[in-house]
Amino acid sequence: MEEGSPGCAEVLALVTDYLDAALPPGRHRTVAGHLEACPGCSAWLAQLLATIAALGCLREGVVSPPVLAALRESFAGRGIRSDGGGARGRRT
Ligand SMILES: [Zn+2]
Repeated sequence: MEEGSPGCAEVLALVTDYLDAALPPGRHRTVAGHLEACPGCSAWLAQLLATIAALGCLREGVVSPPVLAALRESFAGRGIRSDGGGARGRRT
């Protein structure tokens, strides 16, 4: 296992806790860093937030699991590297 470089799937799995600020500080930073560096995940997050707002359930950053699951599926269906940006998980 690699620490510090979460994959897209891991970030998507953690994003609800991330939005709830329920992650440990170190984890929160790695997720935030990935979201900034990964066009696919940042686009997904934007879509997630837009959907939450559209559903009117943006109370305290609570994302209902069904909504998250549906978005995660749609995201996976589109293909994460839709933009083909330069962020293809480079290791240091
Ligand atoms: Zn990603």
